[in-house]
Amino acid sequence: MCPHCKMELAELWFRELKGNMGKRCVYFCLKCRSRLGISHRKGLTMGL
Ligand SMILES: [Zn+2]
Repeated sequence: MCPHCKMELAELWFRELKGNMGKRCVYFCLKCRSRLGISHRKGLTMGL
């Protein structure tokens, strides 16, 4: 569930980022395209 637009999400968009710290996945809401969180390894860290 998106904290921004309050829509229940069937799926998430995510995008892989490659940087100095390694590979990360950034998750986005399909509806409002807000960033939901960043997954560094296994867990999903919920952002703002
Ligand atoms: Zn949203």
